Amino acid sequence: MAEKRAARGPEAAQMRIGEPVGLLEISRAWLVDPVAGREGAGEIVVRDGVLEAVTWLAGAAAKGIGPDGVVVAPGFIDLHVHLREPGNEDAETVASGLAAAAHGGFTTVCAMANTTPPADEPGVFARIRDAAAASGSPVELLLHGAVTVGRAGERLAALGELADAGAVGFSDDGSPVKSPVILRNALLYAGMLGIPLFEHAEDPVLTAGAEANEGYVGTVLGLKGWPAAAEVTAVERAIAVLGAVLPDAPVAALHLTHVSTAGALDAVRRAKVAGLPVTCDVTPHHLALTDEWVAGARRWAWEALDGDGVARDPWADGALVAHPYATTCRVNPPLRAAEDAAAVLEALVDGTADAVATDHAPHTQVDKEAEFGLAANGISGLETALGVLLATVGAGRLPLARAVEALTTGPARVLGGRAGGRGAARGLVEGAPADLVVFDAGAGWTVTAAALASRGTNTPLLGRELPGRVLLTVAGGRLAYRDADA
Ligand SMILES: [Zn+2]
Repeated sequence: MAEKRAARGPEAAQMRIGEPVGLLEISRAWLVDPVAGREGAGEIVVRDGVLEAVTWLAGAAAKGIGPDGVVVAPGFIDLHVHLREPGNEDAETVASGLAAAAHGGFTTVCAMANTTPPADEPGVFARIRDAAAASGSPVELLLHGAVTVGRAGERLAALGELADAGAVGFSDDGSPVKSPVILRNALLYAGMLGIPLFEHAEDPVLTAGAEANEGYVGTVLGLKGWPAAAEVTAVERAIAVLGAVLPDAPVAALHLTHVSTAGALDAVRRAKVAGLPVTCDVTPHHLALTDEWVAGARRWAWEALDGDGVARDPWADGALVAHPYATTCRVNPPLRAAEDAAAVLEALVDGTADAVATDHAPHTQVDKEAEFGLAANGISGLETALGVLLATVGAGRLPLARAVEALTTGPARVLGGRAGGRGAARGLVEGAPADLVVFDAGAGWTVTAAALASRGTNTPLLGRELPGRVLLTVAGGRLAYRDADA
């Protein structure tokens, strides 16, 4: 078991959230720098908020230091979170959401626009930024603007004004952009502004009344099917529309968020091969959890496949260990079959997926305490993302360096120049403001409501032990999170 002595230095114990880090020395750690493409044993020193020294160790000095102990990486970026403020502060506030981000190792998060009112004009941005400033959190909050006025899908929002106000992306997430005509115009205008369009790809006609992934598990449970085709056709349509606007808007860019099916990922793969400016992200829950969790299974996605890559039968396997119909498992897009989850993981490993994004979607108990098909969609994910990815790493399914890339340089590239220039974009560079996460890959923690900083405790991982305890998160030179024992 790795040591719990990551934070050293006379001031480490006195550091307070939001204050500049005076002196922090982390010795005998495993450093991962995805910008330099390097990982190995090393030590860092942070002084007065600046990453003063990064020392790579070799030979005898590096002996016994591995990626299963204390790890230092640039601070993570999440392209897709819902912070619920303004409008639904019972589910989450900007302050509680940023605290959850810091606990998860994220130093930059991009909030979606589906608040109440939606972020379809700069005044809403100002309110959200005021809340972030009042929170005292050093986590950087970046904002997506809505594509359409009121996210109603009828007419374009003032994209230029939102761009001037600092929008990093445009999205009607929560819903897809309603019509292909609007999608076309949005890609055109967003492209002229040099800002990517983040599309939640779903054909709502195919998913009307849908409750759970269409397939064996949903059929046995009697839940109305949510077909993979609803995502595949929406992704293919968006890519086709993108191709049509490129001659007029050569810097147009389409980002497909929370892609969850093998067919949609194949479409993204083909578009990338064809040289189209398409990127995508995948969520931790879609690569590690499957639809059998709705039935009460709690094994990882790769454990739910047989030797031929076909989903096992959880009833025949005796894999059902929890009550069925847990609404913590209800999410949009739904938890998919094990074959789709394997395709999501493969896309992450081979680079088809540019980033891991959590789609952090906190909800109140009231909104989740309903029949399965009526409960709110969403999983609270900021604080469990690292643990789920480390479980995947631990199973030998994902290289640690790739997991870190997908949380740092990958999302930074999607954002381009709007990424904010924090650690994830720069790597572990001496002389820059410290922006990093320190976690103990060898130490586990149990996901409980009390352990979560988010107001949303709606995760099917409650009660589970995850690897990778975050010890410290430093954002822009300031302390964002510190484990009580660190
Ligand atoms: Zn969405």
